[in-house]
Amino acid sequence: MIENAREHARIVKIEGALLIGKRPRHAGCNARLGEHGVTVRTPIVRLTTEDGATGFGRSVATIGQARSILGAQLGELFSPQQGATERGLPFDYPLWDLVGQRAGQPVYELVAAASGQPVEAPLRTPCYDTSLYIDDLHLTDDDEAAALIAAEAREGYARGHRAFKIKVGRGARHMPLEAGTRRDITVIHAVRNAVGPQATIMLDANNGYNLNLTKQVLAETADCRIFWMEEAFHEDRVLYEDLKTWLQANQLPVLIADGEGQASPSLLEWAQSGMVDVIQYDVFSYGFTPWLHLGERLDGWGVVTAPHHYGGFYGNYAACHLSAAIERFAFAEWDEAAAPGIDTSGYSIHEGYVVTPNLPGFGLTLDTERFQHAVDTDGYQVAL
Ligand SMILES: [Mg+2]
Repeated sequence: MIENAREHARIVKIEGALLIGKRPRHAGCNARLGEHGVTVRTPIVRLTTEDGATGFGRSVATIGQARSILGAQLGELFSPQQGATERGLPFDYPLWDLVGQRAGQPVYELVAAASGQPVEAPLRTPCYDTSLYIDDLHLTDDDEAAALIAAEAREGYARGHRAFKIKVGRGARHMPLEAGTRRDITVIHAVRNAVGPQATIMLDANNGYNLNLTKQVLAETADCRIFWMEEAFHEDRVLYEDLKTWLQANQLPVLIADGEGQASPSLLEWAQSGMVDVIQYDVFSYGFTPWLHLGERLDGWGVVTAPHHYGGFYGNYAACHLSAAIERFAFAEWDEAAAPGIDTSGYSIHEGYVVTPNLPGFGLTLDTERFQHAVDTDGYQVAL
């Protein structure tokens, strides 16, 4: 636990810079957007307290927001029981890292202690390979397209993944409706064949299906045992009720997952009433501290937690720490990438789990020279 005296330590320096990383493979389209490419952009903020301790993490805080906390005591920005305060929230990840560094404890230990959950080191969190994008639009033959996505799934399997999320909804925009839907179904079968019967498969339509298309695809892939159907269509109480009833009548144990992007304000209500099974608010725009509090509520309702973070790089690692505090945390989303400047070597993926190191804070190391260079080039620094 944090020693009380230390919470008076003041923030004396705040630096912000963008670190540019790369995926090992180009990411194509989803049902609604074009190419996602190889670049991942990670805005990093580093906080320094007057005793020389530092913590860093993803933050989109502006220089104005940085000035607003300069000289603040740590205790004004963060409490060990509640996490970031309202004032500290723009610096949520850097604060958790800083507090972990000062305590010499991983964030997962801090959040487990605060929520009264037992935790063993190193932390092991189930994860899924989120890289199976719509990468086959240049191919005219469905079997060739399916073979391409299946080969991508095998790459993920070789990296240690045992759960795979497939982007579907080809017929929403990028292909004619029937041809795209047919290809979705062929791809799903090919991926199941590639990863074997034990692996977990999820689908994500990015709101590119409607109710009838969702039923058609889930019926025709019933033998593939889909774990969740994510963003089938923009969430709607009447349509989700229909889908739920249909899934039960057809004995298809597929979970309904939603919540990334512009989620319905009623989504949590629908989750509480059992209509939506998995909540996927983004780990950045929603935030780490808010997720801890939401996770506790979702646990109470029996709803599954699976935070979204695609494209964020940093979320691969930081989101895992939430799993120590949330009982029904199902999966961390894993978007394989590397960012020069952030050493992630403490982490590994093994048999479907992210293994998080027993290191202080979020267990990541910032390359001081590279970060300083990025700060000097087009970042910011404010100091007392
Ligand atoms: Mg999604």
